[in-house]
Amino acid sequence: MTQYVYAFSEGSKEQRELLGGKGANLAEMTNLGLPVPPGFTITTQACRSYLTAGSEPGELRVQVTMALRRLEDDLGRQLGDRHDPLLVSVRSGAMHSMPGMMETVLNVGLNDASVKGLAEAGGDERFAWDSYRRLLQMFGKTVLEIDGENFSRALDDAKRRQGVETDVELTAESLKSLVSEFKSVILEHSGTEFPQHPREQLDLAIRAVFDSWNTERARLYRRRERIPQDLGTAVNICTMVFGNTGETSGTGVAFTRDPASGHGGVYGDYLPNAQGEDVVAGIRNTMSLADLKDLDASSYKQLLQVMRRLETHYRDLCDIEFTIERSKLWMLQTRVGKRTAAAAFRIATQLVDENLITMDEALQRVDGSQLAQLMFPRFDASAPRESLGTGMAASPGAATGQIVFDSAAAEKAAAEGKDVILVRRETSPDDLGGMIAARGVLTSRGGRTSHAAVVARGMGKTCVCGLAELDVDGSTARVGGKTLREGDLISIDGSSGEVFAGAVPVVASPVATYLERGLDEAVKDADADTADLVRSVDRLLSHADRIRRLRVRANADNAEDASRARDLGAQGIGLCRTEHMFLGERRVLIERLILASGADARQAVYDELLPLQRQDFTELLTAMDGLPVTIRLLDPPLHEFLPDRTELSVKVALEKASGTADPGEERLLAAVERLHESNPMLGLRGVRLGLVLPGLFALQVRAISEAAALARRDGGDPHVEIMIPLVGSVMELFLIRDEADAIVRQAGLDIPIGTMIELPRAALTATRVAEAAEFFSFGTNDLTQTTWGFSRDDVEGGFFAAYLDRGVFMVSPFESLDVDGVGRLIRIAAEDGRRTRPGLKLGVCGEHGGDPESIHFFHRVGIDYVSCSPFRVPIARLEAGRAAV
Ligand code: ADP
Ligand code: MG
Ligand code: MG
Repeated sequence: MTQYVYAFSEGSKEQRELLGGKGANLAEMTNLGLPVPPGFTITTQACRSYLTAGSEPGELRVQVTMALRRLEDDLGRQLGDRHDPLLVSVRSGAMHSMPGMMETVLNVGLNDASVKGLAEAGGDERFAWDSYRRLLQMFGKTVLEIDGENFSRALDDAKRRQGVETDVELTAESLKSLVSEFKSVILEHSGTEFPQHPREQLDLAIRAVFDSWNTERARLYRRRERIPQDLGTAVNICTMVFGNTGETSGTGVAFTRDPASGHGGVYGDYLPNAQGEDVVAGIRNTMSLADLKDLDASSYKQLLQVMRRLETHYRDLCDIEFTIERSKLWMLQTRVGKRTAAAAFRIATQLVDENLITMDEALQRVDGSQLAQLMFPRFDASAPRESLGTGMAASPGAATGQIVFDSAAAEKAAAEGKDVILVRRETSPDDLGGMIAARGVLTSRGGRTSHAAVVARGMGKTCVCGLAELDVDGSTARVGGKTLREGDLISIDGSSGEVFAGAVPVVASPVATYLERGLDEAVKDADADTADLVRSVDRLLSHADRIRRLRVRANADNAEDASRARDLGAQGIGLCRTEHMFLGERRVLIERLILASGADARQAVYDELLPLQRQDFTELLTAMDGLPVTIRLLDPPLHEFLPDRTELSVKVALEKASGTADPGEERLLAAVERLHESNPMLGLRGVRLGLVLPGLFALQVRAISEAAALARRDGGDPHVEIMIPLVGSVMELFLIRDEADAIVRQAGLDIPIGTMIELPRAALTATRVAEAAEFFSFGTNDLTQTTWGFSRDDVEGGFFAAYLDRGVFMVSPFESLDVDGVGRLIRIAAEDGRRTRPGLKLGVCGEHGGDPESIHFFHRVGIDYVSCSPFRVPIARLEAGRAAV
């Protein structure tokens, strides 16, 4: 028989999956001997089978009866009895905390008879009727799904009638009549009487908690937090203790240390004569926990002991919920507490200093996304601001600038030295230039995996997306009755999703200063707290560097990015994309190359390109002197360097019609037509281009070799590597190698030549490919596209939303590596490649190289290095360290 019910004394904190976080920790506290009101937990498994079958499993009812009877026998009281009744709370509690998402019902077991029993037993009529009205209210809202307004309106009326401000002032008489009003509300809105039978109340409440797993807002929350939709919630049945029995009672929340700063001490709020959610609901002003000392010294002292006990046991910051009933302390909840990113770093090192955890453990207490948060500049919280709304926090940072509505305007304004925010309904690959030029990006449509969000994150650019209230139309945008025009100042907070009118001042992040310029520089003028934070980051990051096996390189195409990456700790360049070197003024040269009618014409273009390319590479090698630099030969389809097909054909047609045709443009159009592809991603690009267009790769290899030779001549220590993209067959690689090797040897050098693995065929034939490749670098973006058959540029703004919604995946496979599919190919290629060539060097370039979860996978499969955008280098260092623990 499946065990669906566990007494608190049977569980432990390791059982969060089965008992939920709340249940597992209630069990843990019970077994620690802390004062927890007794009770039992219904497992998440019971919830899952209820949700699939649409009704409770038969054994559940029986097991609940047994557990309830045991509870009643232990306490010598019975649920809902007319004398001294046992009352319980029915509390949701999933494996992952979902604050405010699910339901809890207190005071279950009260009815018209037991309310009198409770009054007698406590000698307090007012308290009994207050508890009853709370049950009716919560039960009505949660179980019977009646709009809470109906209850709060009646409560307000009662207060007004009696002429008082707060609910504690309501007399027993007022509460009694409120109870009958609540009952009428229930009858009126649900069509049934409030169930008087205690067991019926209990069963209905349990079912309501199960159901609350699937409310719209809970589903939405889980989607955002990447929590699986099929885990279900546990239900905790817990003996009621009462904080609402007068001034010697109360309820509170506390932290074992400050969750914002990490400092030790007493942090929390307390509310006398109150129950449950009153503290957080803000219905009355709470007092600080420190003041409890004057009110009830002995409970206060006991509470401090319990908190210390919990910290020692969990060896981490805990948050707790407690209640004092007539000067007796009860623990109602604990968990390892949420904290800000800064506090996470500080607390981790503090616990090391207190000898409670080791450095390895401390590293597990922080993560890359927290470090990322600490790196971004922030809006000055003390500055005045006018909010325009909140969209999705897509890529963190605080950006202020003038509004521009298209890419061209963004590039123009940026060239004039202006800070701009690109505001669009959504972005497409055409907006890339504008996104690069802008300080930040704001869209009105699309979620966290929309084009804008993904590209912005990749670039480390601040982005808020999906601000639905924003109505963008061409040259203006409207939001909340306000019209925004090009040039208006706007501020966007990519960490919170908030958007403000005007410029909100920003403050630089001390952690970024530390990462770029070192510890001394960062702590020089910092206050004590900030210096403390920076030192914590330094200690943890240094520890990660000491223990990690994965090396971290950067993707960089120019000397500036390269040296920035180096400052941030990059150990080389894993991907230099040479196509970026052919943009701008050099685009014309590529145009001429495409139009060239023979070998001589082509060679003339190559002769012009050679010194330019050589110069590019020389600068790059100088910036990364002594460290490996992997240069990828030209990858994208050539038509990316040509004008847009539609625009050009319209232009040529118009000119023809007006008799002003330009033969040059007509020839260009013919070339554009010739190179047009329906699926350019799968077309003439990468190694295919190198094989079809004579001399192109040779030119690049020559430029690389000459740059390396020059660097060496000047006393440098260049470590360049040449990488061939989009190889699917070892034959392609052999052909390119023959040509390349000759050029390299001619320069008197020995340059490793390797390949990207970005087609499933390359991964599956890695045994052969490794014969010709001296290293592999996994191009995980293309490998994801080609494995799934997704066109990244199209799907992310398109049907991915539906896929995430329907749970096909929890997170876009372009954001975090699809371990089961793409990861399997990587594993195969890594193993087979190394069988052919032991010690084959394996790297990863692309988006995933900077993604925390993916990094842990790369560590596990024996990758040697990851390469990511420069600003993600510290994050990758930290995660690589965490992976090695
Ligand atoms: P949440 O997960 O939203 O915090 P809880 O299940 O913890 O929901 O309960 C809501 C409130 O009711 C909390 O303040 C909690 O401390 C209080 N509460 C829950 N069970 C009991 C109980 N048995 N006796 C007294 N107060 C309780
Ligand atoms: Mg709680
Ligand atoms: Mg690629």
